[in-house]
Amino acid sequence: MFKHGMPYNPCPRCKNELQLSIEVEKKQKMATISYTYICPVCKYKDVNEYIELQLNGNKVLVRRIRLKTDSQKKLPQ
Ligand SMILES: [Zn+2]
Repeated sequence: MFKHGMPYNPCPRCKNELQLSIEVEKKQKMATISYTYICPVCKYKDVNEYIELQLNGNKVLVRRIRLKTDSQKKLPQ
């Protein structure tokens, strides 16, 4: 039984619930984390946010990139 409460993010195509997939890619002095919503039914893919971590001396620079999508997202806060 899933689908009680409100779905976080319904698929804009087929209205099924999107699944969040977090991918981490490490490079020498940098790592990128991408948050992607994937629909298991129609294979719709929506990259929601992208975080870049960069090592600079002993500092870590964080860049957050929010990608625009066609679907409107209104998260209650
Ligand atoms: Zn779908």
